[in-house]
Amino acid sequence: MLENKKKEQMKFIYPETLISPDEIEIYGKEEKELIPETNPFEMAKKQIDIVAKEMCLNDNIKKFLKRVERSLIVSIPIKMDDGDLEIFEGYRVQHSTLRGPGKGGIRFAPNVNLDEVKALATWMTWKCSLLCLPLGGAKGGICVDPKKLSKNELERLTRRYTTEIINVIGPDIDIPAPDVNTDPQIMAWIMDTYSMHKGRAIPGVVTGKPIEIGGSVGRETATGMGLFFVLEALCTKMNIDLKTQSIVVQGFGNVGGNIAQILYDKGCKIIAVSDISGGLYSNRGLNIKELLEWRDGKNYLKDFQNKDYNYISNEDMLMLRCDILIPAAMENQITKVNANNLKCKVVLEGANGPTTPEADDILKKKGIIVVPDILANAGGVCVSYFEYIQDIHSYFWKLERINHELKNILVNTFENVYILSKEKNVTLRIASYMIAIARLAKAIELRGIFP
Ligand code: GLU
Repeated sequence: MLENKKKEQMKFIYPETLISPDEIEIYGKEEKELIPETNPFEMAKKQIDIVAKEMCLNDNIKKFLKRVERSLIVSIPIKMDDGDLEIFEGYRVQHSTLRGPGKGGIRFAPNVNLDEVKALATWMTWKCSLLCLPLGGAKGGICVDPKKLSKNELERLTRRYTTEIINVIGPDIDIPAPDVNTDPQIMAWIMDTYSMHKGRAIPGVVTGKPIEIGGSVGRETATGMGLFFVLEALCTKMNIDLKTQSIVVQGFGNVGGNIAQILYDKGCKIIAVSDISGGLYSNRGLNIKELLEWRDGKNYLKDFQNKDYNYISNEDMLMLRCDILIPAAMENQITKVNANNLKCKVVLEGANGPTTPEADDILKKKGIIVVPDILANAGGVCVSYFEYIQDIHSYFWKLERINHELKNILVNTFENVYILSKEKNVTLRIASYMIAIARLAKAIELRGIFP
């Protein structure tokens, strides 16, 4: 009886992964695995099965794509400021280096685990292949709540993690980048640590660096810009004026904050935004500029005072009546538990893996269009690719060129995905996967299996 009640509670809690670290301690990792729908790597493999069936993909290729090439688990001992020793666990996973060096971010979060990193690495492979970038897919992370660390502790953690994974990263091997809770400063520490070990400056080991040490203009806002270009392309297809749409954005970090700002500056109406503390909602629209300033002052949205704004939880905001819902926080937000209650017309996936395959089916039946993560949020890795090229050439582009080339790649990719989805009568996700996987399948066929 008690066991059942606990499971019920879990069902309710786990679709919402924006939980506080304390909750994680209470519910623990093991219990999360009680709900297979929320294991991201199982979800990634299920997605491959669905698409493989649709494409009549050769079983051997399916088998090949379902496994990751390399998973590294490292232990990271850190001397804390108070003299105590803390041990953290870190990961770097390369799903595929078939079409080029591994590529993908590093996240610092309390719920990071190997299966999550494996799924995220797999999705990076699809993303790079879909955009036809000459890169593979990888991801890394440390199971840590960075908000609990001082700046010095964070630096030591980053440098030790870099040293632990040093043999599997490099400009020709695997190139990390920012992800959840990591930023240009952290990339600068990675670049410096790697360079110190090699005895010379090697900016190309990471992307998303500060501009002063080989970073690219436009990289910080790239994921938000990319979301905007893809949304604009969709609206043109659907004959919709973006300015008349009501928009909900879950997440107010690099991705959510930037897309909210871009849309707000274009005159769009954002009716709700949220961070880890919950969200704010107003039918008449929120003043995003004010809220971003509040966020930049290291404040939580729930503490913002405005009598016209209502507090709304991260779960409830997904169910608001709106035109466009942008989940831009974490994976597993839209599941079979809540998908039926969504009242939007379009889901634009800013986060990686926010919708489970079970939820995808429900949304399809409801006629909700889902623009999948590997297309919608690909702006970040696309400008990372531009940064990688600029570092190789030691020649840096202007912002106009970055945004022009970014728009070109994303709009062309959207066009191809849209046409295929119409031709085959499949969702945008399936069409995106079909393009990405077909390109990888061809590469496997051409390269063959060694030896
Ligand atoms: N973390 C971002 C993503 O999930 C960017 C990765 C990169 O630039 O390598 O796409």
